[in-house]
Amino acid sequence: MRVSGPVGPALWAGRRAVLATMHGKQAAIAPPLSRVAGLALEVARGLDTDALGTFTGEIPRAGGLREAALAKARLGMRAAGSDLGLASEGAYGPHPSIPFLPAGAEVLVLVDDARGLVLWEEIVDSAPVYAATEAASVETLESFLAGIGFPRQAAVVRPNAGAGPVRKGIAARAALARAVEESAAASADGLARVETDMRAHMNPARMSTIGRLAQRFAERLARACPACGAPGYGRLRAGPARPCAWCGGPTLRPGEDVLGCVACGHEAAPAGHPQPGDPGDCPACNP
Ligand SMILES: [Zn+2]
Ligand SMILES: [Zn+2]
Repeated sequence: MRVSGPVGPALWAGRRAVLATMHGKQAAIAPPLSRVAGLALEVARGLDTDALGTFTGEIPRAGGLREAALAKARLGMRAAGSDLGLASEGAYGPHPSIPFLPAGAEVLVLVDDARGLVLWEEIVDSAPVYAATEAASVETLESFLAGIGFPRQAAVVRPNAGAGPVRKGIAARAALARAVEESAAASADGLARVETDMRAHMNPARMSTIGRLAQRFAERLARACPACGAPGYGRLRAGPARPCAWCGGPTLRPGEDVLGCVACGHEAAPAGHPQPGDPGDCPACNP
């Protein structure tokens, strides 16, 4: 067993990763990858990542978030003839546990065919800029627009009922007024649907979430497995639930993260006894 493998930038010396994006994500992803992991990034040219699915729903995304990210990374690698590729994917919707609150999930994947490695990092965004409303004219939209931070945050406008063109990337007052008027006129109920544009280059909050995710991913890429030396050592999953301090049964609170390596399967031994959990999180003691 190798105790000390190469660390940090040495793990990626001489390699270049291809990033599959049409939406300027290199602005958030390239700096931490270069600074922390010493990995240079280039953007794949001439890609149509929208063919794999769009936020606005004209093209449904096949499979889950991870499958979509992986397909996108592979698309970029094929286009560039590279054995090292990277892609990110996000999904936004209602919060899983808090009604009426939006939430987002972002994943980053790196595919290294030279090493036979696929590495992941994920982040949950509990305060995304993700909202939608209906309006007959732009005059009734003031508080919605202020809430989303328009025009730095761009809008998508379409008819509220029935088919019609989806107008994306609207980031000017006059263009918004025209789009709302035309979409309302084309809608069976006389209303336009106005949404936050969720593409990274149109959604500054999302771009900054991707930046935070990229920073964590870069730290993972710079960590070598203590057993085999492969890069990407880090969190594999949440550990077993904390035992209830009163009855010892499992609480709803996940324990310490399990760290490990996807290349060789090595996992860090849990550090001592698990911290007891709050009986308030115990389904037996606090039903
Ligand atoms: Zn390993
Ligand atoms: Zn209990």
